[in-house]
Amino acid sequence: MQVLFNDLAAQYLAIQPEIDRAVKEVLEQGWFIGGRQAHEFERRFAKLSGTNHAVGLGNATDGLFLALKALGVGPGDEVITPAWSWISSAEVISFCGARVVFADVEPHTFTIAASEIQKKLTPNTKAVIAVHLYGQMADVTSIKAVCDQAGVYLIEDCSQAHLASGVAGLAGTTGHCGVFSFYPTKNLGAFGDAGCLVTQQDEFALRVRRLANHGGLSKDEHLMEGMNSRLDTLQAAILNVKLNHLQAWTHHREHLVNIYRKRLASVKEISLPVVAEGARHVYHLFVVRAQKRNELRSFLDEHAIQTLVHYPQALPFEPAYGYLQHTAKEFPVASQLPQQVLSLPLHPFLTEAQIESVCDMICQFYGN
Ligand SMILES: *Cc1c(COP(=O)(O)O)cnc(C)c1O
Repeated sequence: MQVLFNDLAAQYLAIQPEIDRAVKEVLEQGWFIGGRQAHEFERRFAKLSGTNHAVGLGNATDGLFLALKALGVGPGDEVITPAWSWISSAEVISFCGARVVFADVEPHTFTIAASEIQKKLTPNTKAVIAVHLYGQMADVTSIKAVCDQAGVYLIEDCSQAHLASGVAGLAGTTGHCGVFSFYPTKNLGAFGDAGCLVTQQDEFALRVRRLANHGGLSKDEHLMEGMNSRLDTLQAAILNVKLNHLQAWTHHREHLVNIYRKRLASVKEISLPVVAEGARHVYHLFVVRAQKRNELRSFLDEHAIQTLVHYPQALPFEPAYGYLQHTAKEFPVASQLPQQVLSLPLHPFLTEAQIESVCDMICQFYGN
């Protein structure tokens, strides 16, 4: 039985009439940047995420960059970011002219550790970027306490955490702002690039909106220099349709994960994801740690089961950060993960039978 890692074509087919109608409406109306659908999406997404403002943007990398810019981060500043993440949460720091400071992650959840942030603080630290990894929030209660005590800003990268929550509340509501990605494969994905920034801060939201639109809210307003990173009307219209299904799709992810958990609990070669007390993990990815990971991956591939590795390298050891000359012992957790982690197929258009067949193959591989 073939099991795809993701199936965006199946997703489209499931909601085709609604999507086609929404796209046609935009094409006929002839307005392609921002506009009514973008405003509607911003209003709905702000409400869903429990914030006052959602600013639609071109993508989440721009959102993180603009958040730092709007906070005035620049040369001479340091920003602390996890050693284990997608590169966006690190590269935007250098692009602002500031210094990237990596902190190691928690051994069970792989999210940035408050204790490691504490160790990396200096008088030059201006902000911390916490990434809510794989669908689970970092421990923002502890992280916020460290940030508040040091007088530094907290930015939440919620790109993998739509609808995720923890004891502190919903993703994006504890820090100064949260940034979401709507990259096509994310839990809420557009049909191209899109993103947004959510915040409770009125002035900050306005500043980000201006920075994303050449320094102004209207065409010929340029109160400062900015860039071009706006939400397309077509993407907003598509996101408005998909937003109606996000809760149900997330529930299906959770349901499929329960099957994985039941079937794999007794496989001692596999460590299942650990969910923090009181948290809702939304399983953007279902990442296990596996013994003989590469062999298991090849075996599953031979049986038409697609898997991926998030991520093949910890960020401090990517060529892009070679200049920092980090060593593995500085990041005892993150440096071990590339050899161990395996992302098993999980998306809302998989069936229970498909998950069962993945589990059968894993059991077969380990001789269980
Ligand atoms: C996807 C992702 C991003 C970047 O999102 P884009 O919209 O593609 O720029 C940033 N951070 C994390 C953790 C991500 O998973």
